[in-house]
Amino acid sequence: MTTAATPSFTSQPDAGGHFGPYGGMFVPEILVHPLQELTRAYLKVREDEGFQKELADLLNEYVGRPTSLYYAKRMSEALGGAKIYLKREDLCHTGAHKINNSLGQVLLARRMGKTRIIAETGAGQHGVATATVSAMFGLECVVYMGEVDMKRQALNVYRMRRLGAKVVGVTAGQKTLKEAISEAMRDWVTNIENTHYIIGSALGAHPYPMMVRDFQSVIGKEARRQILEREGKLPDHLVACVGGGSNAIGLFYPFLGDEGVKMTGVEAGGLGSGLGEHAARFNGGSLGILQGTKTYVLQDAEGQISLTHSVSAGLDYAAVGPEHAWLKDLGRVEYTSVEDQVAVDALSELSRLEGILPALETAHAVAHAMQIAPKMGKDQIVIINCSGRGDKDVQELAAWEARQAGKKESEL
Ligand SMILES: *Cc1c(COP(=O)(O)O)cnc(C)c1O
Repeated sequence: MTTAATPSFTSQPDAGGHFGPYGGMFVPEILVHPLQELTRAYLKVREDEGFQKELADLLNEYVGRPTSLYYAKRMSEALGGAKIYLKREDLCHTGAHKINNSLGQVLLARRMGKTRIIAETGAGQHGVATATVSAMFGLECVVYMGEVDMKRQALNVYRMRRLGAKVVGVTAGQKTLKEAISEAMRDWVTNIENTHYIIGSALGAHPYPMMVRDFQSVIGKEARRQILEREGKLPDHLVACVGGGSNAIGLFYPFLGDEGVKMTGVEAGGLGSGLGEHAARFNGGSLGILQGTKTYVLQDAEGQISLTHSVSAGLDYAAVGPEHAWLKDLGRVEYTSVEDQVAVDALSELSRLEGILPALETAHAVAHAMQIAPKMGKDQIVIINCSGRGDKDVQELAAWEARQAGKKESEL
């Protein structure tokens, strides 16, 4: 197994932002120039030592990086196979990995002279992270959120407002994330002069998938260094949940060149395999274009975007980041899905065994790791990306339990 620091395999997009046949810039004419400008500005700061130093300092002092790589001893012993480590992104300020990206983008926006920040949010974690870094820099912040999500995630709406952000409810369509993104796009088109749009996952038009990946790659860079220090060798298997795909690509990217390291992305299997019951784009999706990028999309035969379902709002979206689509085609990363109940059970296991209550999104990765670890040797290593903490989900969990109990009673 190689421990070389320079990967022999990377997945850089071409100049137009294509990862193989995926990605690109499928936007209204009026956004092409601003996206090109953003790409140029980003490529410049990527090479700028001053920018990278400012980002690194804030990641350390404000976000609380490096996050720990924790050996989950009791869980490893309970499963009886591979050693399980958790990359603790749940310990980041605001409780998830999202802030790594929000912070990077807000610094870029400042360099570009933008004074106003907008964002979309589904579960609210990205909205909270963006409201947080906007407050820290004294920038105006507007967050678009579907009204259904606002009800489901009332706590995060309150947090954003406390942080000084304006939360705008979106009432179109399903009133969830997809409509919130469309509304944020409309705002951006109108206010492009002074406004930067912070997209919260490795999605959307070029340069977002590349830029978000780069900002989240701090996760994998740290994990790689930490496991080498701790175990003197690379891990055998990385596991992460995949919504848009930012925490997963952030962990995977620095290991792509390490041939011996297997990787699995875990999508939301929801309630079952029927269209509309899940958000597993790689298990029922097909090539399509959604919100600026070409990728695997859940859609019907006429190309209408289908409804999706997951117990975890953060995985509940009809498209997956284009780089993941490419990594799947290349066979470098495997993708699977985990159903709602299995994820909820994994959340309980991790909480009980390790005293760590993960986010419902994260629980999908935990569930898959629990399936593979027992079949692995005791000298083998699995790293799970613990993308966020579950405090935001306790209400949703309680509602889930109540529904399950109701179901069982009626089945008697
Ligand atoms: C948003 C979120 C996700 C899903 O988004 P990715 O871009 O796929 O990482 C996963 N876990 C947590 C805790 C989140 O907040």
